[in-house]
Amino acid sequence: MDYGARQKRLADGFKKLEVDAVLVTHMPNVRYLTGFTGSAGVFVAAQRPVFTTDGRYSEQATHQVERARVVVGKGSALASAVLEIKKARTRRLGIEAEHMTVATRRLLSRELGRSTKLIDTSNVVEKLRIVKDRDEIQLIRKAVNLGSELLPVVCKALKPGQSEFSAAAHLEFAARERGAEAMSFETIVAAGKRSALPHGVASAARLPRRGFVVLDYGVILNGYCSDMTRTVCIGRASSEQRRVYDAVLEAQLAAIAAVAPGRTAGEVDEAARSVLKRAGLGKYFIHSTGHGVGLEIHESPKMAARQTDLLQPGMVITIEPGVYIGGKFGVRIEDMVLVTERGSEVLTRAPKVLLEL
Ligand code: ZN
Ligand code: ZN
Repeated sequence: MDYGARQKRLADGFKKLEVDAVLVTHMPNVRYLTGFTGSAGVFVAAQRPVFTTDGRYSEQATHQVERARVVVGKGSALASAVLEIKKARTRRLGIEAEHMTVATRRLLSRELGRSTKLIDTSNVVEKLRIVKDRDEIQLIRKAVNLGSELLPVVCKALKPGQSEFSAAAHLEFAARERGAEAMSFETIVAAGKRSALPHGVASAARLPRRGFVVLDYGVILNGYCSDMTRTVCIGRASSEQRRVYDAVLEAQLAAIAAVAPGRTAGEVDEAARSVLKRAGLGKYFIHSTGHGVGLEIHESPKMAARQTDLLQPGMVITIEPGVYIGGKFGVRIEDMVLVTERGSEVLTRAPKVLLEL
């Protein structure tokens, strides 16, 4: 990972932000800029970058942190950062407005006094993270591949009468055995009528003898998240179920086909939405088409209606249209997609033909 290049890109924006330094407190951003994977650390992005942490992480920080002086103080990471900022006589300090609590801001302004002005910045590091570099794309591919490999494992655990919990447990056990650090979010196993819940996390509900099961899950591998959804059917699908499944798949393929540099996120969303509208299912597609993925499960860009963000090569997004018919069933199909110079590459390898188990 080229942490130096990332820090430089951040520093290149200081003039426009009218800051001398940025206090990076959101841990995924700290990781992105320094390589530190622990849970307590602060990065002061400045001409002389400093990383501060507390005693628990002194060993880890020395090994991991690149391109910054490491300071391990007696107090908290933030307390040490305050001392460093004072020493550097920073006049205008950017803070991450999206992540800092009001209480911390108050404390900072009290500790730093009048000589340092706090400047709210908005998603400055997140904006750098939208376009993934080559190293990141490699890691994302690995995470996505692991996710794809797990589909047959969870399908084997889908037996009528078993609980959704049990299917999720099989999936998560297999993920950890294959090296996943964690799941990227609470695993969704939503069967039968519950498949109509767009966010139906696994529950104690029993799997039916017949019906759809929405499986939406992801793993974290080397810090990077994967995210995929497949809808499978226990037993034979009815003709109505098959019609809806085919429409969602067509919408998903249409959205993928619309992904290319220079297109807007809104256009991609519209590509999926118009297919479902034509099929008379538009009103059942109640969420956006996708989102960026990386160190965090939900990143920019938002793949939603009217979003004017232009897609750029190196962005990694999900394409996940769905149809949810309350009281009956739901279908969602989700892949991770890399925006390339010419168009797109679907990273998720699992098949999308309707699996009838
Ligand atoms: Zn998902
Ligand atoms: Zn997703």
